[in-house]
Amino acid sequence: MENRDFDVVVVGGGLVGCSLACALAPLGLAVGLVDAGIGPTPLAADPRKLALAAASLNALGRLGVLARLATPPTPIERLHVSREGDFGVLAVAARDVGRDAFGGVVLAGDLGAALQQAVAALPDLVSVRGTATAAGMADDDRRVLDVLGCIDDPGTSAAASVQRWRARLVVAADGTHSPLRAAAGIGVDTHDYGQTLIVTSVRMASAVPGMAYERLTSTGPCALLPMAGGRHGALMGVATDEADAVMALDDRAFAEAFQRRAGWRAGAVREVGSRSAWPLRRLVATSQVAERLVLVGNAAQTIHPIGAQGFNLGLRDALSLVDLLAETRSGGASDPGAAGLLSSYVERRCIDRAETLAFSDGLARVTASESPWHRLGRSLGFAAMNLDAGLRAGFVAGAMGFRGRVPTLARDVA
Ligand SMILES: Cc1cc2nc3c(=O)[nH]c(=O)nc-3n(C[C@H](O)[C@H](O)[C@H](O)COP(=O)(O)OP(=O)(O)OC[C@H]3O[C@@H](n4cnc5c(N)ncnc54)[C@H](O)[C@@H]3O)c2cc1C
Repeated sequence: MENRDFDVVVVGGGLVGCSLACALAPLGLAVGLVDAGIGPTPLAADPRKLALAAASLNALGRLGVLARLATPPTPIERLHVSREGDFGVLAVAARDVGRDAFGGVVLAGDLGAALQQAVAALPDLVSVRGTATAAGMADDDRRVLDVLGCIDDPGTSAAASVQRWRARLVVAADGTHSPLRAAAGIGVDTHDYGQTLIVTSVRMASAVPGMAYERLTSTGPCALLPMAGGRHGALMGVATDEADAVMALDDRAFAEAFQRRAGWRAGAVREVGSRSAWPLRRLVATSQVAERLVLVGNAAQTIHPIGAQGFNLGLRDALSLVDLLAETRSGGASDPGAAGLLSSYVERRCIDRAETLAFSDGLARVTASESPWHRLGRSLGFAAMNLDAGLRAGFVAGAMGFRGRVPTLARDVA
């Protein structure tokens, strides 16, 4: 079996793992990336529409990823949030907080393809399509992985290649079901929201350009995200036990169901695209690190998409790790998997992670509740936000990804 030694190995080439590989490139470390291609859907064919926070756009722009998108992000210039059956709305414009946009909307498959191109253009990265399996620690204090490479040519009769990779730091960007997290014995806290998000695209008769609409309901959000060409990314939360029936509706019946949930603020639903269904569970790893191992992205925390924070948060995990690796290298230290570096990582992610988890989970649970007390609290919350510019500014700064210590590449001025 062939042996290869690395400073850092990234397991998982989803949106977060690929972003991490790009951000690590300037550090001059020996980096390997292995991806099994077993994400929820093939990366470049992912039909979801992702809202990228301003902080993420800063970073992806600096990494040269935005320039590779087939369609540039559609700016989110205004937000309109309401709750079915409650009083009041939250309406906020980016220009009220001194910005052109809160962020932008991309097709997830377009972002995936752009990241894969950016990764393929990294001259020093060793990238393999295959499956990594944890194989313990070596005597010289490296983490060992067995990497089973896939055969891309189905006509070949050759056996798949197996390599033994040894790394001073392994980064598990291997998604919600993270095999590396399980192999390291790290536990998870989980919660099933009992909701499924149905994702599609729609054309609306009279949506305000640049406006993102979110209508919160007892079975999750119903949202419209502005897209290129006058379309909108549309998401509709339904009770999981009703999801199959809603998926089976014909387009006309689905458009009517969507209209009932979304209301008429953006006019009539004119057209709907193909649909996909995403059951929603929260999963939070009880630790983000183990010996010479860091969890990032969905492997560390998989959150409710209600606030569009999952990838944005995972990207900041990756970028914070890169900042720490760069700082320790410029300070003369050379071990990327040193215990001190890993505990600094946990400390640095503490505020952003805790606040983003609390925001997404709190919003998902409180907005689903039909209790009269929650109704009153939500209506008062909208009113307070509309009256208090400071409260509004804090809310949008968090939603734009400026929480805690913002990673260098994600700052407005790097
Ligand atoms: C409906 C929906 C809408 C969303 N909308 C938004 C949004 O608007 N904004 C936002 O920021 N977030 C959003 N999210 C969240 C976002 O999609 C995820 O947080 C993000 O895609 C997670 O990326 P990841 O790279 O961490 O994990 P994944 O995408 O799961 O990637 C994991 C990778 O690891 C690989 N892998 C697994 N095991 C192995 C192994 N043993 N060896 C090698 N490779 C392996 C897999 O092949 C896969 O490519 C949404 C989520 C959902 C469900």
